[in-house]
Order: sequence, then C-alpha cells, then structure tokens
Amino acid sequence: MDPLFTVQEVAPEPDGAEAALVRRLREARRLIGGAATVGPRRVVHRVGAQSWHGVRTAVAACRSSTDPLLLRPADGPVTCKRCIERERRTAAGRAPGQEAIPFPEVPVPRPG
Ligand SMILES: [Zn+2]
Repeated sequence: MDPLFTVQEVAPEPDGAEAALVRRLREARRLIGGAATVGPRRVVHRVGAQSWHGVRTAVAACRSSTDPLLLRPADGPVTCKRCIERERRTAAGRAPGQEAIPFPEVPVPRPG
C-alpha cells in the first residue's frame, strides 16, 4: 500500500532578503583572521570567529561589535588597542584577560 503522504526533508533554498543575508554572512566569514573596521569607523580590528546559533560567524576579536554585517575589510594594520593587547597576551601564552601569576624562584633541595 502506498503512503498517503511523502515526507521530504529538504531545506528550502533561501530567496530574497534571506539569500542576501546568507551571502553577507558568508562574505563576513572570509574576514576571519584578517582585519576590518566596524561600519564607517576608522579603528581597525582583528577579526575573530564566534558561534551564533550554531553558525560560525565573523566578529571583532575584542567584541566591540558582535554584528558580522557591520564588518568592512581593512588593508591597514590593526589599530584597536584591545585587539592588539589580546594578540599580545595570546602570543605570550595567556588567555585574553588572564594575568600572569609571578612565581618566586624556589631552590630545589639536593640530596645529601
Ligand atoms: Zn578591536
């Protein structure tokens, strides 16, 4: 006996405004690892990644803006002080916002 209904689990193709949004999110994702300004502002940020409702999107690494659609590619060096500090700390092996704890030199006891 044939089923009364068939189920198709096919996601509809985005169209119109939805397609434009998907295209712009994909374009912004290409900026990850590069540099960008937020809208018309001149400060250049490092572009990082974030998970937004399970979708990987671009974001200013310092989180000054979390809207990927505001990011504009920039050719110049990163000028955002928070992004620069974040990269410096990451290069030093510390997580952003994490302070180094000074450990005093402790003499190692020698046997004998
Ligand atoms: Zn920044």
